[in-house]
Amino acid sequence: MFSFDIVGHSTESQARAGVIKTSHGDIETPIFMPVGTLGSVKAVSAEELFEAGAQVILGNTYHLYLRPGCEIIGRFNGLHRFMHWSKPILTDSGGFQVFSLANLARISDEGVTFQSHIDGSKHLLSPEKVIDIQACLDSDIMMCLDQCIQYPATREQCRAALAMTTEWAKRCKRAYQDSGNGHNALFGIVQGGMFVDLRRQSAEELMDIEFNGYAIGGLSVGEPVELMLEVADSTLPELPKAKPRYVMGIGTPENIIELVARGADMFDCVLPTRNARNGQMFTQTGTVNISNSRYKDDTDPLETDCRCYTCRNYSRAYLRHLFMARELLAYRLNTIHNIFYFINFIKQMRTAIVADKFETFRRKFYGKREL
Ligand SMILES: [Zn+2]
Repeated sequence: MFSFDIVGHSTESQARAGVIKTSHGDIETPIFMPVGTLGSVKAVSAEELFEAGAQVILGNTYHLYLRPGCEIIGRFNGLHRFMHWSKPILTDSGGFQVFSLANLARISDEGVTFQSHIDGSKHLLSPEKVIDIQACLDSDIMMCLDQCIQYPATREQCRAALAMTTEWAKRCKRAYQDSGNGHNALFGIVQGGMFVDLRRQSAEELMDIEFNGYAIGGLSVGEPVELMLEVADSTLPELPKAKPRYVMGIGTPENIIELVARGADMFDCVLPTRNARNGQMFTQTGTVNISNSRYKDDTDPLETDCRCYTCRNYSRAYLRHLFMARELLAYRLNTIHNIFYFINFIKQMRTAIVADKFETFRRKFYGKREL
């Protein structure tokens, strides 16, 4: 019950438009996936996400496994019913969080042992267990356990992490096949640090194992944007054209448009939600700090032509007041706009790709930012 079809492409770049079919509905690519780490996209309900046009959201294996745990989510037959979201869900494998959040993560052939960041309890995440947990969450798109590497890292460190990532990918694939979870998809994650030849090797090794789609992990970890684009630029063409390509943890609207131009289809990032809670709003002309005193008596909506719930109903002065007063409604209204902005931005980009007007769209996008 998983498929990917390309329905349009740009003749001036590698940008393409597609449709991913899952058992919880279709996903039109390119797509932005709001991040719902703990089974909630912070500050908004599933209904509000739906109204903002979200087609797929991200859940986090590491966090949900630790809290509330599979036993509870299993009683709801998965995350969809637990959080009242009936559309597709992608779950990451937890690899990234183990390395960034958990204490004393130790890697062995078996998997990663770590101490919970919540209560210090000891756990092992193995490739098999990661598949088990994601099956219990009934994730539509599961991710393989991978070994993330910090930036900067030596060639030897990157090579070792790549070798482990390939081994774990093989075991994830086997566990996935054994679980008989035919209706869910499994994606492999390309690693290799900032070394272009290692990225190519990782992509080839994963393609030999064969996955439903391929992700590029370990980008946007502190490297300069030019380097991120260079690595993506040389990795994306190595991945099969007929499968979805997901660049993990990215990013700004500028990075998204540049990666779509290079053939990427899927994105996730905490930027719209996290920045909304800090009062930073995304608009067509660039980012806006709602706390700025120039908005204190501004009766206009945040963006006059934005069709989001927030802009249809509230003024800049009100949003500024809520934010300055630390009213809880500020987080909700700001998040609704930012999510809508990202989803709508990429939706318009998709329409341009289908009409083969991607380059015009890209020029206009940058033109508005320079105003
Ligand atoms: Zn809006």
